[in-house]
Amino acid sequence: MIVFDLQCDAGCETFEAWFRSSADYEEQRRAELVQCPYCRSAAIEKAPMAPRVPRKTGGHPLERLAAMQSELLKNSRWVGDDFAETARAMHSGEIQPAQVHGNASLEQAKQLADDGIPVAPLPLPVTPPNQLN
Ligand SMILES: [Zn+2]
Repeated sequence: MIVFDLQCDAGCETFEAWFRSSADYEEQRRAELVQCPYCRSAAIEKAPMAPRVPRKTGGHPLERLAAMQSELLKNSRWVGDDFAETARAMHSGEIQPAQVHGNASLEQAKQLADDGIPVAPLPLPVTPPNQLN
């Protein structure tokens, strides 16, 4: 679901409306199913602001970042301090490529980049699984 701030061309107050997707909104708007709650006009445009993140999943930006990162790492394997070695082995074809994450020193990360091995820093520090209770 996606929420948009909408406004009619008569300039009433902006209002929120939920849609399954951006395409769904376009479709409903074209069919004049979206109406201004104040004047019933179907001449609706998105209000000039970015779509808002639904309040329920809101919260602190760091929490959202953490949720994003855990989603990112869902299919990723923790390789701990073997990260640089593992990334290298995958790059050279010694082992099957897979998504992994782990520790790398700045020096190791630089060397991987120099060798053309794509690595990306994670937005937040990861707690190694063996340190989770
Ligand atoms: Zn209106």
